Amino acid sequence: MANNTFSPVVLPYAQDALAPVISAETIAYHYGKHLAAYINNLNAALPGSGLEDRSLEDIVRIAEGGLHNNAGQVLNHTLYFTQFKPAGNPSTPTGVLLSAIERDFGSFDAFKEEFEKKGAGLFGSGWVWLSAEPDGKLVITQEPNACNPVRRGLNPLLTFDVWEHAYYLDYQNRRPAHLAALWEIVDWDVVAARYCK
Ligand code: MN
Repeated sequence: MANNTFSPVVLPYAQDALAPVISAETIAYHYGKHLAAYINNLNAALPGSGLEDRSLEDIVRIAEGGLHNNAGQVLNHTLYFTQFKPAGNPSTPTGVLLSAIERDFGSFDAFKEEFEKKGAGLFGSGWVWLSAEPDGKLVITQEPNACNPVRRGLNPLLTFDVWEHAYYLDYQNRRPAHLAALWEIVDWDVVAARYCK
């Protein structure tokens, strides 16, 4: 199999389409600079690692150190940037995903409350995730730094990035306000497709 070279995921919306929830300036830095750096670092670290022909998920599961950190951030940001849709048309989960949320958290509102609380309460840099266990049970986890739930054998569905670079230009220190605003742009069709795959 040919060696992998990774490139940034194509954004499924215009860079200013998420405003005012996420500004075009934040996307320009977060997607255009931070993700680009993780991609470059990953591609530079892969040759000679023994993992050149593995999937991104496998690299995140197996690698340690700098390779794990950069692969993790590429996977995390790929899932993050592709889970949003333009602001102004908020939606909510439906169907099988809504039923699972109600079964495992009580209600959609209770789920959102716990997700925001775990995002706000994560000390330092990291990510809060909604994931599915192999049997379909939904769980919320806090992952420090570059970690991804695939390391725990989970299927990652939805994530809010709580690194300061994700929100500082728009919200400064107000991480909870940023997290509360993100629901407006979550594309629940994408999250449901991840759950059902
Ligand atoms: Mn980020």
